[in-house]
Amino acid sequence: MGDLYLDSTATTKPTDLALDSFVNVNTNHWHNPSATMSEGGIAARRLVEESRKKIADLIGAKSEQIIFTSGATEGANMIIKGFIPRGHERKHCIICSPIEHPAVWETAIYMYNCGAWLNVLDVNGFGDIDLKQLEECLEWGRLSTKTLVCVMDSNNELGTIQKTMEIEEIVHKYPNAYLFSDMTQSYAHAEVIGADILKYDFACASAQKFGGLKGVGFVYARDPSLLTPLIHGGGQEGNMRSGTENVGGIVSMAKQFEDVCNARHHGDIEYIRMLNNKLRTLLITNFNNIRILSPDDGLPSILSVMFPGNDANNIVTMLELQNIQVSAGSACHTGENKPSRTLKAIGLTDDEARSVIRISLSSELSTGDLNKFINILKGVVE
Ligand code: PMP
Repeated sequence: MGDLYLDSTATTKPTDLALDSFVNVNTNHWHNPSATMSEGGIAARRLVEESRKKIADLIGAKSEQIIFTSGATEGANMIIKGFIPRGHERKHCIICSPIEHPAVWETAIYMYNCGAWLNVLDVNGFGDIDLKQLEECLEWGRLSTKTLVCVMDSNNELGTIQKTMEIEEIVHKYPNAYLFSDMTQSYAHAEVIGADILKYDFACASAQKFGGLKGVGFVYARDPSLLTPLIHGGGQEGNMRSGTENVGGIVSMAKQFEDVCNARHHGDIEYIRMLNNKLRTLLITNFNNIRILSPDDGLPSILSVMFPGNDANNIVTMLELQNIQVSAGSACHTGENKPSRTLKAIGLTDDEARSVIRISLSSELSTGDLNKFINILKGVVE
């Protein structure tokens, strides 16, 4: 890892709490939680169920509304493929926008190829979805048997937080329409935890984005019986997701989730907001001709910046050589030289989109780190 890690949107470093609890469970409670005839199995089962209750309590849900998964990609697949039946000649409808993460976007396209109807909403220059168009699509979608609206709570490339109260009101005016939100980036931020999720019918999250481990996450489903399981087998997770539970990952995620919800973390958010303001000022005063794409009221941890005339991949590589990690657009797209779908959707040209870097902020950074970053960046950007 670089000396200055400015890429926590791609993944967060697991905390000691997350790591220790994982090791502890896998050392002392490694039994199969379905082996409930044994003491070890009973203990492992208890840990899984306590973790489920902990997460449910923290977001104001019921335990049976929480399904453990391997992360948000599986969560999005579970929800979209589980809710929309395949092969019904456009009888069911999915509505989403082009700024969704590939976990949602590619699954929606797959479902279109399997017979669902797909309506793609426009977004404005900050990535806010067009609410009037949403309403028009829902009107039109009245003819569908089921409509699933997929709106990510906050965006991983720009940090845009959607107007979820208004979206929820619009969607739930239509009895056949359900609202799914990818909460993956929101859960890095205690300020949204507990406040928002219950207005959605479905949501997904991933532990790696809030200091937990990779390969574990959860789905919230207001009514899990609306979903057809994706993975069949031994009937774990209320038959929604067969396979022996990742007990250590689950316990570690629940503990870490609790930690990000506590008062200390609320302080972290204010601190990260301060870093965000400071970085905006430093960028504007040190560089001519740049454009900050992230809205002022977006996630404090994400600052997406366009450096016209520069190639973002070059900037990322040059910074990496000096032990600084940022990403070009979204980490999920690096390696491809295709301009980001999200950046195109907010109106950038291909060249503009290729000149955008995403800087991520976290409570581990200091204002001194930002000064250091800006000084090095000045030597890298033309
Ligand atoms: N949604 C969003 C918004 C994300 O940022 C990510 C991770 N980049 C995912 C979904 C997928 O999460 P995971 O890779 O943990 O399945």
